[in-house]
Amino acid sequence: METARVFNIERFATEDGEGIRTVVFLKGCELRCKWCANPESQEFRREILFKKAPCTNCGRCIEICNQKAIDLREEFGFITNASLCNYCERCVDYCVNNARCVVGMDMSVDELIKEVLKDIEYYKMSGGGITFSGGEPLFYSRFIKECSKKLKEYNITTLVETCGYIDNKNMKEICDYSDYIFYDIKHMNSEKHKELTGKDNKLIIDNLIWLSNNYKGKLSVRYPYIPGCNDDTDSIKQFLDFIQTLDNIREVVFLPYHRLGMPKYEGLGRKYEMGDMKSLTTSDLQCISHMFKDYDFHFKIL
Ligand code: SF4
Ligand code: SF4
Repeated sequence: METARVFNIERFATEDGEGIRTVVFLKGCELRCKWCANPESQEFRREILFKKAPCTNCGRCIEICNQKAIDLREEFGFITNASLCNYCERCVDYCVNNARCVVGMDMSVDELIKEVLKDIEYYKMSGGGITFSGGEPLFYSRFIKECSKKLKEYNITTLVETCGYIDNKNMKEICDYSDYIFYDIKHMNSEKHKELTGKDNKLIIDNLIWLSNNYKGKLSVRYPYIPGCNDDTDSIKQFLDFIQTLDNIREVVFLPYHRLGMPKYEGLGRKYEMGDMKSLTTSDLQCISHMFKDYDFHFKIL
């Protein structure tokens, strides 16, 4: 049976699609967006995440680790060296302050279905369902397809949030089974895209064009609005002009930058590349709303 590496399951979510939803976060992505709010989603391998706030600096985790995989790093704390760790979880069990956790758990289709069906009454009552997010969930397209087929038996809808950097065959695999797709565009300029995410945007643009011609479900395009990266008028206009050329785009959503993921970078021993950049709110983006009048799709700022 298909499995997927899950790093979080969020119940009662209301901002990741219609109604009350369970969001299933799958681990692994080839992009490295500087502002990514889920740095623990990027690597495909399991990881040990350290949380600074509850840690009392007792040093017990270092003592207990037979692999000598934990270093005390001045700027971050008790960080695990992935090349030495064997995921025995001793440091997690022995940390009485719950300052360490394993990120990434392999689940079968049946295990996931059993988990998400716990909230079936909420989905029915609110018109909600299951959202697959990540990371890039479409690396597990066969898993998503199998789950979606089973969920259809209960009349539960599924939604996929994708960055689009994925082989087109993976996208084709889920198209007939997913009711909604949320599709991210980070920048229309390919060089700039590479600078911001580590990859150029050709595959992403090609996949969106393909979807707009072939996908029968509801397709929403999302633009993370990141100060100093893609918030200038030219970049936004280029994006909107491109979307205007496509069919079947249900809505365009702007997502204001936030820095909620910052502590997790520290907990993985990684530098947060956005520095001290402040989080934005919906009202910070009202300055671009005058641009929407030239286009006829539905807009939203979250
Ligand atoms: S992570 Fe836990 S075990 Fe390690 S030093 Fe902090 S409190 Fe102690
Ligand atoms: S999971 Fe095991 S090997 Fe890895 S850091 Fe913790 S104690 Fe060491």
